[in-house]
Amino acid sequence: MANQTTIAKETAVSGIGLHTGKKSKVVFKPAPANTGVKFIRVDLPKKTEIKADWTNAQGVHAVRGSIIAKDGAEISTIEHIMASLYSFAIDNVIIEINSAEPPILDGSAVEFANALIKAGIQELDIAREYFIIDKSFDFEIEKTKYSVLPSDGLAIDCAIGFEHPFLKYQRLIIDRLDKDIFIKEIAPAKTFCFDFEIEYLQKHNLSLGGSFDNAIVIGAQGILNKQPLRYQDEFVRHKILDLIGDLYLAGKPIKAKIIADKPGHQNNINLVKELIKKAKIGG
Ligand SMILES: [Zn+2]
Repeated sequence: MANQTTIAKETAVSGIGLHTGKKSKVVFKPAPANTGVKFIRVDLPKKTEIKADWTNAQGVHAVRGSIIAKDGAEISTIEHIMASLYSFAIDNVIIEINSAEPPILDGSAVEFANALIKAGIQELDIAREYFIIDKSFDFEIEKTKYSVLPSDGLAIDCAIGFEHPFLKYQRLIIDRLDKDIFIKEIAPAKTFCFDFEIEYLQKHNLSLGGSFDNAIVIGAQGILNKQPLRYQDEFVRHKILDLIGDLYLAGKPIKAKIIADKPGHQNNINLVKELIKKAKIGG
């Protein structure tokens, strides 16, 4: 039986938001057991608190990633923070944020992971609960397919596929997600988009903070960034990063193997709702 955790001391990360292009700061603060992951919009007069779980998930957006909202206040693109917290096994934390989205940084989770390493982990004296899957099930929406199987921890087998001359198919299996695997294999993988998507975004005044510094841009012949890829299969690694973040909207860690074929934020959140219905809660 593992106990719940929080961070040992306060830590902060700042940068530019992807959607608005405005400066944003997140301050991670220790929190007592059973708090979960809670954001506070400290820039709003009411300082609205929004728990990062599926009940506050407001669907998704092409640029803004997974969005949570409550009482008219929202926060978008929380998935890289959520993935880092999940992988570090941090159950309880308060995240003060002074804008409607966390900093995009370099489009990966490296800086969030580094901040959590610096903060350290504090064990609390209350047992952690998991969502445990005893019986396998399949879940299919449009072109996305998931299979969920029993496992001692979170395992992920993810494949992506596009009708695109450069990026057709990638697959990666993570047998057992933990902090070290996350830091080495997943956190550095950057956000990506296709060159034809940028025209649409610009026309609609979206992704104002987007640049070659925080996203890999894929053209028909290859990537358009001057910097080389961090991994040859960086794209599927980033999809796994996003999936881990979305899975943490369950509100508790998950003991299951998730086989995901062409996952995306909206379907990930639908999967979380299905998984919670089918899971039992235990240690
Ligand atoms: Zn992402």
